Amino acid sequence: MIKCPYCQSEATLRDTAIIYGRSYGNAWICTNFPECDSYVGVHKETDKPLGTLANKELRTWRKRIKLVFNSIWKGGMINSIYPKYLKDISNRSKAYVWLSIEMKLSSEETHIGMFNVEQCEQALKICDNVISKQIEPEIKFDNL
Ligand SMILES: [Zn+2]
Repeated sequence: MIKCPYCQSEATLRDTAIIYGRSYGNAWICTNFPECDSYVGVHKETDKPLGTLANKELRTWRKRIKLVFNSIWKGGMINSIYPKYLKDISNRSKAYVWLSIEMKLSSEETHIGMFNVEQCEQALKICDNVISKQIEPEIKFDNL
Protein backbone atom coordinates (compact mmCIF):
# COMPACT_ATOMS: atom_id res chain seq x y z
CA MET A 1 0.00 0.00 0.00
CA ILE A 2 1.23 3.46 -0.87
CA LYS A 3 0.50 6.06 1.76
CA CYS A 4 0.23 9.82 1.55
CA PRO A 5 2.95 11.25 3.81
CA TYR A 6 0.87 14.37 4.49
CA CYS A 7 -2.55 13.04 5.57
CA GLN A 8 -1.63 9.35 5.99
CA SER A 9 -4.43 8.29 3.65
CA GLU A 10 -3.99 5.63 1.07
CA ALA A 11 -2.90 6.63 -2.41
CA THR A 12 -4.57 5.02 -5.40
CA LEU A 13 -3.49 4.63 -8.99
CA ARG A 14 -5.68 6.96 -11.03
CA ASP A 15 -5.67 8.76 -14.32
CA THR A 16 -3.88 12.12 -14.25
CA ALA A 17 -6.86 13.75 -15.98
CA ILE A 18 -8.26 14.56 -12.50
CA ILE A 19 -5.10 16.60 -11.88
CA TYR A 20 -4.40 18.22 -15.24
CA GLY A 21 -7.78 18.13 -16.98
CA ARG A 22 -6.30 15.83 -19.59
CA SER A 23 -4.66 12.47 -19.36
CA TYR A 24 -0.92 11.98 -19.12
CA GLY A 25 -1.25 8.38 -17.95
CA ASN A 26 -1.61 7.23 -14.37
CA ALA A 27 -0.29 8.58 -11.11
CA TRP A 28 -0.48 7.56 -7.47
CA ILE A 29 -2.85 10.12 -6.05
CA CYS A 30 -3.92 10.72 -2.44
CA THR A 31 -7.53 9.59 -1.94
CA ASN A 32 -8.17 13.03 -0.36
CA PHE A 33 -7.21 14.81 -3.58
CA PRO A 34 -7.84 17.67 -4.26
CA GLU A 35 -8.20 18.67 -0.57
CA CYS A 36 -4.82 17.03 -0.09
CA ASP A 37 -2.81 18.01 -3.15
CA SER A 38 -0.42 15.11 -3.12
CA TYR A 39 0.59 12.69 -5.86
CA VAL A 40 3.50 11.12 -7.71
CA GLY A 41 3.94 9.94 -11.28
CA VAL A 42 4.91 6.45 -12.41
CA HIS A 43 7.85 5.03 -14.32
CA LYS A 44 6.98 4.83 -18.00
CA GLU A 45 4.57 2.04 -18.87
CA THR A 46 4.53 0.70 -15.30
CA ASP A 47 2.55 1.24 -12.10
CA LYS A 48 5.78 1.81 -10.20
CA PRO A 49 5.83 5.20 -8.43
CA LEU A 50 8.70 7.55 -9.31
CA GLY A 51 9.23 8.16 -5.62
CA THR A 52 7.20 9.35 -2.66
CA LEU A 53 4.01 11.38 -2.98
CA ALA A 54 4.65 15.11 -3.08
CA ASN A 55 2.57 18.19 -2.40
CA LYS A 56 2.90 21.34 -4.48
CA GLU A 57 5.85 22.74 -2.52
CA LEU A 58 7.84 19.52 -2.80
CA ARG A 59 6.94 19.08 -6.47
CA THR A 60 8.30 22.54 -7.19
CA TRP A 61 11.53 21.76 -5.35
CA ARG A 62 11.94 18.46 -7.18
CA LYS A 63 11.43 20.18 -10.54
CA ARG A 64 14.06 22.78 -9.69
CA ILE A 65 16.70 20.30 -8.60
CA LYS A 66 15.93 18.04 -11.55
CA LEU A 67 16.64 20.85 -14.04
CA VAL A 68 19.92 21.74 -12.36
CA PHE A 69 20.95 18.13 -11.87
CA ASN A 70 20.19 17.31 -15.52
CA SER A 71 22.41 20.17 -16.63
CA ILE A 72 25.28 18.55 -14.73
CA TRP A 73 25.18 15.24 -16.59
CA LYS A 74 23.49 15.97 -19.91
CA GLY A 75 26.38 17.97 -21.34
CA GLY A 76 28.98 15.78 -19.65
CA MET A 77 29.96 18.36 -17.02
CA ILE A 78 29.90 15.59 -14.44
CA ASN A 79 33.17 14.27 -15.87
CA SER A 80 35.05 17.41 -14.89
CA ILE A 81 33.20 17.73 -11.57
CA TYR A 82 33.93 14.10 -10.72
CA PRO A 83 36.76 12.96 -13.00
CA LYS A 84 37.10 9.50 -11.43
CA TYR A 85 36.80 6.75 -14.04
CA LEU A 86 33.91 4.40 -13.40
CA LYS A 87 33.60 1.49 -15.80
CA ASP A 88 30.45 1.10 -17.92
CA ILE A 89 28.46 3.89 -16.34
CA SER A 90 26.29 6.53 -17.95
CA ASN A 91 26.85 10.20 -17.19
CA ARG A 92 23.50 10.21 -15.45
CA SER A 93 24.38 7.29 -13.16
CA LYS A 94 27.79 8.81 -12.50
CA ALA A 95 26.13 12.07 -11.49
CA TYR A 96 23.96 10.13 -9.05
CA VAL A 97 27.04 8.41 -7.61
CA TRP A 98 28.67 11.81 -7.15
CA LEU A 99 25.53 13.31 -5.58
CA SER A 100 25.15 10.41 -3.15
CA ILE A 101 28.74 10.97 -1.97
CA GLU A 102 28.17 14.71 -1.61
CA MET A 103 24.92 14.22 0.28
CA LYS A 104 26.21 11.26 2.31
CA LEU A 105 23.27 9.15 1.24
CA SER A 106 23.13 5.57 0.03
CA SER A 107 22.57 5.01 -3.67
CA GLU A 108 19.03 3.75 -2.89
CA GLU A 109 18.25 7.05 -1.15
CA THR A 110 19.75 9.20 -3.88
CA HIS A 111 16.80 9.73 -6.18
CA ILE A 112 15.19 13.09 -6.68
CA GLY A 113 11.79 11.39 -6.46
CA MET A 114 12.67 10.27 -2.92
CA PHE A 115 13.96 13.62 -1.70
CA ASN A 116 12.11 15.74 0.85
CA VAL A 117 12.26 19.55 0.78
CA GLU A 118 15.41 19.72 2.92
CA GLN A 119 17.23 17.26 0.70
CA CYS A 120 16.18 19.17 -2.42
CA GLU A 121 17.57 22.36 -0.89
CA GLN A 122 20.79 20.59 0.04
CA ALA A 123 21.18 19.05 -3.42
CA LEU A 124 20.46 22.37 -5.09
CA LYS A 125 23.19 24.08 -3.06
CA ILE A 126 25.69 21.37 -3.93
CA CYS A 127 24.87 21.49 -7.65
CA ASP A 128 24.74 25.29 -7.90
CA ASN A 129 28.09 25.47 -6.18
CA VAL A 130 29.90 23.12 -8.58
CA ILE A 131 28.19 24.58 -11.65
CA SER A 132 29.27 28.11 -10.79
CA LYS A 133 32.84 26.82 -10.38
CA GLN A 134 32.67 25.10 -13.77
CA ILE A 135 31.29 27.99 -15.76
CA GLU A 136 32.88 30.95 -14.03
CA PRO A 137 35.70 32.30 -16.14
CA GLU A 138 38.85 32.96 -14.20
CA ILE A 139 38.42 36.66 -13.86
CA LYS A 140 40.57 38.50 -11.42
CA PHE A 141 38.91 41.53 -9.97
CA ASP A 142 42.10 43.02 -8.48
CA ASN A 143 42.52 45.53 -11.28
CA LEU A 144 38.94 46.81 -11.34
ZN1 LIG B 1 -2.96 13.14 1.43
